[in-house]
Amino acid sequence: MTCTRMCSSRLYLLSTRLMSTAAPRIVQAAAAGKPPNLLAASFTFEDPSAFRVKSLRELCRALLVFRFCSFPVLVNNCNKLMSAARSILGRRVFSSLMRSTVYAQFVAGENEKEISESMEKMSTLGLRPMLAVPIEEDLGESTGEKRYDENMDAMLECVRMSHSNAWSKDPMMQLKVTALLSPELCVKLTKVISKQAYELDLLVRAMDGEEVKFPSLEESEAAHFRCSLRRLNRIAEASVNKVRVLVDAEYTYMNPALSLVSMAMMKKFNKDGAWIWYTFQCYLKETRTLLLEAISRSREGGFCLGVKLVRGAYMDKERKLAAKEGRPDPVQDCWEDTNDNYNSLLEVLLRHIAEDPQGYRIIVATHNEESVRRAAEWVEELGIDKASGSVCFGQLLGMCDHVSLTLAKEGYAVYKSVPYGSVDDTLPYLVRRAQENQTVLKGIRKERDLLRKELHRRLMLRGR
Ligand SMILES: Cc1cc2nc3c(=O)[nH]c(=O)nc-3n(C[C@H](O)[C@H](O)[C@H](O)COP(=O)(O)OP(=O)(O)OC[C@H]3O[C@@H](n4cnc5c(N)ncnc54)[C@H](O)[C@@H]3O)c2cc1C
Repeated sequence: MTCTRMCSSRLYLLSTRLMSTAAPRIVQAAAAGKPPNLLAASFTFEDPSAFRVKSLRELCRALLVFRFCSFPVLVNNCNKLMSAARSILGRRVFSSLMRSTVYAQFVAGENEKEISESMEKMSTLGLRPMLAVPIEEDLGESTGEKRYDENMDAMLECVRMSHSNAWSKDPMMQLKVTALLSPELCVKLTKVISKQAYELDLLVRAMDGEEVKFPSLEESEAAHFRCSLRRLNRIAEASVNKVRVLVDAEYTYMNPALSLVSMAMMKKFNKDGAWIWYTFQCYLKETRTLLLEAISRSREGGFCLGVKLVRGAYMDKERKLAAKEGRPDPVQDCWEDTNDNYNSLLEVLLRHIAEDPQGYRIIVATHNEESVRRAAEWVEELGIDKASGSVCFGQLLGMCDHVSLTLAKEGYAVYKSVPYGSVDDTLPYLVRRAQENQTVLKGIRKERDLLRKELHRRLMLRGR
């Protein structure tokens, strides 16, 4: 609590020192010697101070990268363009070009020293870390048990790094189950449990090391499932009371399996707080039902439900696959429907939190200003304590800093999802994220305008 106050006042000092064109209400508050305390309804997300802490080089880089990302043809053909550039420029020059542009914009660094430098900078702005190990798999990319064990070691290292540094404040990390459990088995489990549900306790017993039998799985599949559950168990054991682990949602053909293991982990580890969370994708028509089921399951099981609420990243692929297989489209018919679903599920969760702050937690993981504004308004209206951490916000590193900073200044817990690793390891991850988030990248006009304004201001100052 003390630290939150210190961070807010440090931010306030920083912003008043840096701001010359702040919104009138902030100027009045500053003149009265009070920290700004805007009502959520009046958040404009136009605070230029988010960009004043960036160097000239960082501003130019962000503008260049966002401009590139605003052309769908470039983003869609990223892999081909990068292969061509690699063969023309050679590996070393290509790597340093990537390092100084896309990588520097969206990745925290390669080793603990570099990551710590980025995180310290973030922490002085009042933002919190949500480290993400850039490992994931899709169908046909499965690796062996040894590789999954190595992935587990990388995740355990992520747990350690997340909580053992000065910049760690109530840290979170993202976890992709498909880095530890084969996507093929996730698909099989999804089919199996659609006919015959598995009890969460069955999975909990397997996590505890019992040689349980899983109905409808072959012995080799059951053996891999048990190993994977033990890997997940080790990560959860290492993170309880230290780091909140947020399990990502992926494709509909495997999500029921990911949800099942996440709920089992919650049942085991969320007795006294939300250490394991799962993701709900509002672009799916079924998500309302799934979320309501998860709420009653957590109530019946007596554990805390941690929810990452997102719109969803895999829309194009979901639609193409459904059309190819002649299934109904699982995705909402239009962006407005996704938006309505997002806002209404947000309200459902906030009302549950207001009633039972210990029972539920949510991270509003979106770059959408309207959803963020609504969430903050509801938090105020429902009298939810901002400092309790039961409601927090999340954006990706390198994106929408003006949204993140406004929220942090107003005392909300704000996390940046932070991938890290070598250029070679993170580029495929970044390409996938860029392709999945095209609607956002095309729409970040406001961020580019704010960056341009700041660049213009700096150049004018230099010219004087
Ligand atoms: C911290 C963090 C963690 C995340 N974790 C996950 C995760 O685990 N799994 C995951 O899938 N995604 C995840 N995402 C990505 C997220 O789902 C979105 O892709 C991304 O944030 C864009 O949505 P938005 O609300 O920020 O932006 P907005 O611009 O408001 O919305 C864009 C989104 O709306 C939806 N949409 C766009 N057009 C249509 C249409 N025609 N019909 C229906 N819907 C449409 C799509 O979901 C699209 O991504 C995460 C994002 C963040 C910030």
